[in-house]
Amino acid sequence: QGNEAEVAAFSVPSYACQRRTTLENHNTVLTDALSLLAENAELSEEDGRGVAFRRAAAVLKALPKPVASMTQLRGLPCLGEHSLRVIKDILENGASSEVESTKQSERYKALKVLTGIFGVGARTADRWIRDGIHNLRQLQDSGPTLNRAQQAGLEHYDDLNQPVSKSDADAIGEVVEKAVVSVLPGAHMTLIGGFRRGKLTGHDVDFLITHPEEGREVGLMPKLVSWLESQGFLLYQKTTRNSYLESKDGPARPASNMDRFERCFSIFKLTKEEKRGTKHPETLTENGTKPAGHKPWRAVRVDLVVSPISQFAFALLGWTGSKLFERELRRWAGHEKSMSLSSHALYDNRQSKYLRATSEEEIFAHLGLEFVPPSERNA
Ligand code: ATP
Ligand code: MN
Ligand code: MN
Repeated sequence: QGNEAEVAAFSVPSYACQRRTTLENHNTVLTDALSLLAENAELSEEDGRGVAFRRAAAVLKALPKPVASMTQLRGLPCLGEHSLRVIKDILENGASSEVESTKQSERYKALKVLTGIFGVGARTADRWIRDGIHNLRQLQDSGPTLNRAQQAGLEHYDDLNQPVSKSDADAIGEVVEKAVVSVLPGAHMTLIGGFRRGKLTGHDVDFLITHPEEGREVGLMPKLVSWLESQGFLLYQKTTRNSYLESKDGPARPASNMDRFERCFSIFKLTKEEKRGTKHPETLTENGTKPAGHKPWRAVRVDLVVSPISQFAFALLGWTGSKLFERELRRWAGHEKSMSLSSHALYDNRQSKYLRATSEEEIFAHLGLEFVPPSERNA
């Protein structure tokens, strides 16, 4: 039995965007378990269940110390019956039988391996599993038609499943920055995604690019991609047009932005020279030796986003994450404020108008939320 302080109940606000969630997590055993169940639900295309587990995990990430007993959880938001059962199992038995059996299940293992291929989502993986494909060998043997993204994903499978370090992210940042200013002088580049939140590793590197003069960013993405391609930095790229007009997350906006290419999902070739440029030692294996047949480069997933300056604050907020923090911001906007938030704009349904903002701080203020800095958005 703990002392009085240990059993005092925790208290956290119900939306993740009302909380400050740093990378310091006092309940990793519990949050890893709930995240695994969330992932399994998402891989099984049960998004509702997935979000429920993500929300439960996020509440535990926000607690100031480890959970010692179930009574401390009384009154906490987002902890449904199922999540509470998992937590109780772990507190009492050291592990959750559901989590352990999920981890061991052939279906979960196959879904993980197959969706570990860039370009393969839950639906494709499910179809392959039903065709008897459970691993990469069976995939190569039975040879279903792969699209360009999946071919690249398979080719660079090992690299893309290695975490990306901050120093790798910085090395890529230097190359992208150089490309950006040579194709459009005066343009700005910002690191976004997990690295902006202070994470030390990531599954990719995300950059947001804009120009202080509205409209100057038009046509930037194709030029940027051509520059990087001509220098041999891209192993794969897919550039997509602004999908804002078709998106469901906000009312339609004027057609002037229609042909802005704004996103590029790529696989970047990070060479030793670029790494050395950042003055970091080259990667060695665990026992400190250079791996045999070590190639002098690695593949890294890189996402590029271009935004007009008028939408920059929204793009910055929308692409910094975490995914759950973003989802909760939009839920807060809709349910509590009758507003629609996207990574392009904030629309006030009561006033029937767009609310302008030139900084993230202004957007939080419009939403009636206390400002949460990027390092505290790790929900
Ligand atoms: P990691 O370290 O694993 O990369 P991350 O937080 O950077 O973590 P990403 O998947 O790179 O995760 O996403 C970064 C941000 O970009 C998130 O806020 C996410 O909501 C947003 N995002 C990712 N993909 C898209 C997309 N296709 N359209 C719009 N926003 C996206
Ligand atoms: Mn990322
Ligand atoms: Mn990304």
